[in-house]
Amino acid sequence: QVPAFNTLAVDCVAAPDAALIPRVPGLEDSLFQSDGTMTKREVRAATLAKLMPMRGALLWDIGSGSGSVSIEWMRAARYARAIGIEPRADRRATAAANALALGTPRLELVEGEAPEALDALPAPDAIFIGGGLSEPVFEAAWAALRPLGRLVANAVTLESEAALMQLYARYGGSLAHIAVARAEPVGRLTGWRPAMPVMQWSLIK
Ligand code: SAH
Repeated sequence: QVPAFNTLAVDCVAAPDAALIPRVPGLEDSLFQSDGTMTKREVRAATLAKLMPMRGALLWDIGSGSGSVSIEWMRAARYARAIGIEPRADRRATAAANALALGTPRLELVEGEAPEALDALPAPDAIFIGGGLSEPVFEAAWAALRPLGRLVANAVTLESEAALMQLYARYGGSLAHIAVARAEPVGRLTGWRPAMPVMQWSLIK
């Protein structure tokens, strides 16, 4: 007997090559278009775990780039909403294309830079700062965050690491250092190819 519906198809979208696309964050990097600045799979999964997607909750994705964090936020919980703030038009276009391809066409994209671009936005339940981290950006984001809201900031440059250190000293929260290496061919053998390490700060309001 043929089942009434395939339960896999309810929660997974079949890609053209029939790859599975689950709702659990940490999708393969190759499922997104990007110019290479995208938050990589392992770091993205850790980021989403700390952002804690919940039903109907709103995310601000500051420096949304390819939209990968917003898209995984929206896929992870029903009615979850996300606003990506990104000054570069080419990256906003890429994010819109990724959102359409991965089933979250309602991703909202705002042109501009934090902190100025944050003023007019509805108060969020979670905030990811993936670009443009500075004290004024953090202060504006933190002030707008709703009670029990989650904030995660990733730093890859020494300058943004220094900014994170100061904020951590003042506000507390948790710091993690995430260094991922993937096995890749080295001639006919195999070696670890390290990705840029990420310093990740997370706190709950
Ligand atoms: N999480 C993204 C990667 C972000 S790279 C992804 O997975 O694709 C950092 C982004 O921050 C860049 O696209 C850059 O244009 C943007 N950015 C830099 N300063 C910013 C600011 N002040 N406000 C908003 N975005 C900013």
